[in-house]
Amino acid sequence: MQKLILIKYGELTTKKGNRNTFIKLLVRNVNSILKGIDYHIQYDRVRMYIESENIETIISRLQKVFGIHSIVECFKVNTNMEEIKESLVNALKNVDFKTFKVETKRADKNFPTSSMECSRIFGGVVLKNFDCKVDVHHPDLIIKVEIRKEGTFLYIREIDGIGGYPVGIQGKGLLMLSGGIDSPVAGYLSLKRGVDLECLYFESPPHTSLEAKNKVLKLASIINAYSGNIKVHVVPFTNLQEAIYKNVPESYVITIMRRMMYRIASGVVKKRHLKVIINGESIGQVASQTLDSMCVINSVTNLPVIRPVACMDKLEIIDISNKIGTYETSILPFEDCCTIFLPKHPVINPELEKCIYYESLFDYESLVEECINTIETHTLEEQEEDLL
Ligand code: ATP
Ligand code: MG
Repeated sequence: MQKLILIKYGELTTKKGNRNTFIKLLVRNVNSILKGIDYHIQYDRVRMYIESENIETIISRLQKVFGIHSIVECFKVNTNMEEIKESLVNALKNVDFKTFKVETKRADKNFPTSSMECSRIFGGVVLKNFDCKVDVHHPDLIIKVEIRKEGTFLYIREIDGIGGYPVGIQGKGLLMLSGGIDSPVAGYLSLKRGVDLECLYFESPPHTSLEAKNKVLKLASIINAYSGNIKVHVVPFTNLQEAIYKNVPESYVITIMRRMMYRIASGVVKKRHLKVIINGESIGQVASQTLDSMCVINSVTNLPVIRPVACMDKLEIIDISNKIGTYETSILPFEDCCTIFLPKHPVINPELEKCIYYESLFDYESLVEECINTIETHTLEEQEEDLL
């Protein structure tokens, strides 16, 4: 009896034309997350099998791979009635259940016993060996037996995968990653849709601290567990931010600062051949996230800006943040460049003409250029999650 993991593909099975690309990418992502483990992988158009001595470690790693619908622990045995019965008893030894049902699929039509009869026989074996009952409607355990020529598969424990599309299928976007709660969640949700990420963080030393930057790198490393090759670009934003505070009336500084962030982000998207900007804006959350503000800020770029949490309540965002493990880091109290010198009354319905006028008062273009050209890039390794 040989223990295996079966991977059922997620939503990708509905995308017929792109199926091969989806599967190849999923295989690449699975290989990348299993680095350092000894295993053998086999796949076809409907599923993937992994053989290894380290089944438990593999199962826990696979739970961070988008594009997987479920992970099934299964056993492969010879297609022979006595052997199947014996293996069934062995396979169930460490499984906790009170009720069960058996479903048999006979792919090998030369096998002499019908599917119905097989299920009855296997059910009898389970009843005889374990303290349990049959329940065909709501069983604790569904035992699937698939009889094929090359072997019979016993599917015992099915664990939910995280669904979504394989990371990278949509290319890459640039996530504006701050130390807050929202942007790591926005990053996670984008990865789930198959968009791989590079991150952009604006820092303003000495007004913002090294701890604030390390916090952002830590957040990036947590979401990197779902990607594996995230880069974080750190923008030295101090000169531009100080120029804004010197030249722009207080109520407009945040609006103008965010227009500058979008300009820099657009420059990085082009330079790095990425596709879109992604951020953690949520409608109405703060003055710079009213629809009026968004229109005025967004107008500096013609790139699509994806806002995965735009329509979520803060509590919904916090829920995801807890689930993916970023919340505890996000609430550490280090100041971000958006929270230093916060104006008392930021404008909530800014006018585009005023923005253009205030921006004409200083040479922002060369400062934007300088920000893009002096970026410091960190490439995260998967293991860094444990080190930081
Ligand atoms: P919070 O969770 O506290 O709301 P936040 O990260 O959402 O924090 P906001 O001020 O709401 O902070 O900013 C909206 C979005 O702008 C962020 O989600 C993020 O995408 C981007 N942003 C803000 N500050 C920075 C920064 N210093 N570097 C990169 N992106 C930033
Ligand atoms: Mg926010």
